Order: sequence, then structure tokens, then C-alpha cells
Amino acid sequence: MRELAPDVWQLDGFPANSINVYVIGDVLIDSGSPIDGGRVLKQVRDRALSAHALTHGHFDHYGSSAKVCRELELPLWCGANDVRAVEAGKQIGLGRRTVSGMGARAVPVARALREGDEVAGFTVLDVPGHSPGHVAYWRESDRVLIAGDVMWGFNPFTLRGAIREPYPALSPDAGRNRISARRLASLRPELVAFGHGPPLGDPDAFAAAVAKLP
Ligand SMILES: [Zn+2]
Repeated sequence: MRELAPDVWQLDGFPANSINVYVIGDVLIDSGSPIDGGRVLKQVRDRALSAHALTHGHFDHYGSSAKVCRELELPLWCGANDVRAVEAGKQIGLGRRTVSGMGARAVPVARALREGDEVAGFTVLDVPGHSPGHVAYWRESDRVLIAGDVMWGFNPFTLRGAIREPYPALSPDAGRNRISARRLASLRPELVAFGHGPPLGDPDAFAAAVAKLP
């Protein structure tokens, strides 16, 4: 586990930065895919966590949440509009239809997160599009942003390439996601922690990537 900023850690993964899991304060953010439970538990076992929160309800972000919540006895929190999917072990696709959760197990959600809520010193930002209940976590005091998949730090399928939007076909509302991306870029984050890709300490590079969106 690597400390990116005060009280913000990125868990080790393989390949590095491919599917990111973070700890902010005493809250675990995301849990990776259904095969990531072991590596997550191994790294957080000695930490006093109080909750597990999601950026969004996709299988590569809550895939091991059932296991982690059960073993560590943590409540799960996620964006209000993703609660239905997470509690069903599904994802919400185009037209708000429920689609396969790709192996993610259903988990009861203890708290539906909304714009302005506070999580471990971060403010919840409602940034829908890639999923209906996608949230980001923003700490204005040092401009740290846990961005989830509003933008990808690289292409998670090739593990390379520039900062980009997620493939539009993977976002039930790609247009809305671009609005969310512009909102995040306007914050001028000093550090962006992506769902996929290495952490980025360059507000200009983030803004430039978002400015290229259609
Ligand atoms: Zn993802």
C-alpha cells in the first residue's frame, strides 16, 4: 500500500494501477473485481476500517465487496442511484436496464451517498453517467480527488495510453458522464486517483484531457 497524500493510500495491485482500490482515512474505497478480494483483505487486515464505500456499482469496483464486508464486518456505502444494482449483484446498463454483474455478489447497502455527504474528510460529489449513482470523493483542502471511472487514467484493457473517457458503450449515459468530467476538471485537482491508471499530479493534464471530449 502506498500513501499518495495524507491519509490517502493506494493498494498494491497486479498489473500495477490496472484496477485501483484506495483507503481514505478509515474507509475502504472500492474492492476491485471478484478475484481481488484476497489482495484487498491481505493489505487492509491490520487497519482499523469503519466502512467500505464505492465510487460506483460496476463489477470491477464492487466485485469483492460482499467478501470484504463479510470478513471485516464493514457497512457498505454507495451512490444512491447505484443501490439497486449493488443490492442485486447487477449493473445498470443502457436505458437503466439491469444487466449482469459479471460475477459481483449482491451486498446490502447500509448508506446511500448523496451530493455533499462527508466520507473520511472528503465530500461526496454526484457525478453520474458512467453509472447512474457514480460518485467521486473530493478533499478541497489539498485538492485530492478520488475520481472513479469518470475518466480513465489509461486504457484498462491495454494498460497504456493517455487519460481518456471510458468507452462510451460502457457508460449508460456517456453524455452525462462528459458533463461530470467537466465538473471534475473545473475543480483543478492537484491529485487525481483514478479507478484505472496511475495517480496523476498534474491539473493541466487532467483539464486538457477533459477539454478534448466531444
Ligand atoms: Zn472500472
